[in-house]
Amino acid sequence: MTTFYCPKCWGEMKEDLKICPHCGANIPKIWASFSYEDKLIHALGHPEPTTVMRSAWLLGEKKVEKAVPALIELIKSTRDIYIILEATRALGKINTPDCRQALSDLTHHPVRMISREARTILKELQDIPAKPGQ
Ligand SMILES: [Zn+2]
Repeated sequence: MTTFYCPKCWGEMKEDLKICPHCGANIPKIWASFSYEDKLIHALGHPEPTTVMRSAWLLGEKKVEKAVPALIELIKSTRDIYIILEATRALGKINTPDCRQALSDLTHHPVRMISREARTILKELQDIPAKPGQ
């Protein structure tokens, strides 16, 4: 059975309701106020890890620069290694100075899978000439 989530409080719902039974939010109105990019950034807080990972991946693919603070925050706040890895890769794809700084910090991450991934990404970025204006 599909579970639906309120975009405001992430409360679970058994059906696709218009009004959240947990916080009273007008759900279609909230979604309508978000751009596609805002929806992806918002979904980084989603309770289902697969949704978070998919959103991080999409934000990286689309190089959404305004998602960088949310991705860095996600890396700091989650304990899910696979979410951290996906957010780390997204930072590498977006590749702003803030992303490179965060990747540099991640090379000291206690989980080796993450520190190694950050080092690999940084090395790949060094092999690509910097884009003008960055
Ligand atoms: Zn709610």
